[in-house]
Amino acid sequence: MVVNISAKETIPITEIEQSAFCQTDDDLNSKTLEEEFGAGVRWQKLPISYMRTSPEQLEENISRARKELGDRIVILGHHYQRDEVIKFSDERGDSFKLSQYAADQESAEYIIFCGVHFMAETADILSSDNQKVILPNLTAGCSMADMAQTDDVLDCWDDLQNVIQNETIIPITYMNSTADIKSLCGKNDGIVCTSSNADKAFEWAYAKGDKVLFLPDQHLGRNTGVKMGISLDEMILWNPFKPLGGNSEESVKKAKLILWQGHCSVHTRFTVSQIEEARVKYNDVNVVVHPECTLDVVNAADSVGSTEHIKTVIEQSAPGTIWAVGTEISLVKRIKDENPDKTVFCLDSVVCPCSTMYRIHPAYLSWVLDGINEGVTVNQIKVDEDTKKYSRVALERMLSLA
Ligand code: SF4
Repeated sequence: MVVNISAKETIPITEIEQSAFCQTDDDLNSKTLEEEFGAGVRWQKLPISYMRTSPEQLEENISRARKELGDRIVILGHHYQRDEVIKFSDERGDSFKLSQYAADQESAEYIIFCGVHFMAETADILSSDNQKVILPNLTAGCSMADMAQTDDVLDCWDDLQNVIQNETIIPITYMNSTADIKSLCGKNDGIVCTSSNADKAFEWAYAKGDKVLFLPDQHLGRNTGVKMGISLDEMILWNPFKPLGGNSEESVKKAKLILWQGHCSVHTRFTVSQIEEARVKYNDVNVVVHPECTLDVVNAADSVGSTEHIKTVIEQSAPGTIWAVGTEISLVKRIKDENPDKTVFCLDSVVCPCSTMYRIHPAYLSWVLDGINEGVTVNQIKVDEDTKKYSRVALERMLSLA
């Protein structure tokens, strides 16, 4: 039996929820799901017994169910997941690393993806047909991916084709986008990229075409463009709510890089003044940030890179070094705990987890594991065959980059 299957599930805009769990103390420990719902959030409903189970009891229940399922399942945990969830992951990493891992797990019947919707879709695209990908909470979307809706992107693509007639535009989408957008890129000679290979994807695209449409994160696109030597006046921003994205025909014709107006609500919280404050407090601090941060923050930092880069650079640094980090708080806290010989802190003193990653409460993990044990597949993510075909093309182009 399979329930709640829809690759076209509409994920609500989640940005407004971002501050629901921001707090000024350091406590990110899970409460019962019923208590967390008290913050006014509207997540997927599940049986009341799971909502009232204490975090300690959930831990016991998940351990037992995990043991019973053995190698029928593999649990993947994104770096931004809560500790109470990440402790059960067979592999943890960023979206790219986890998707590659999922593609290699041919023997597991179920892939439980503790991350967000686009990641589970990618795992379904790359895994084999007999495997089922489960997202424990269907409302765990990504506000950035939500900012590039298929119809808006199709309108943009048509407008660009009408205005630019003698030059080729190559679409690049960041991994943090829906399968529909990846498919659109695959169909139109484009590619997917991650924060660790965006520059290679740009090189690939400019070798084939004259202009790039970059979706959906303007900041990763701008930061990569600047790194590649493209000047800011060769870039335009595409606002999907305005005619021609808010641009004139002339500026569209002149632009080398067209940036979709999307952003990450977590990484755009970081500011240059936070970096300046960190430098005043510790004059030998190293500042490392994610490329979803704004260009001024990236320019003010010492190092920029993906979550894997951030984790590795700190792990490999000398004991006693000091690190101010501009990325999601659950990962920063974990890096801090795993590197007790270094000083590690988040640039933003207000503790704000990614509100959508945070939706994978242990109660949901317990629920989906119990379901499998009882022969019920809960929350399978299944991408339709046509979308799968072309998004796989775009993903495979990325995987073939050196
Ligand atoms: S951190 Fe930002 S880009 Fe990543 S899942 Fe959360 S909202 Fe999306």
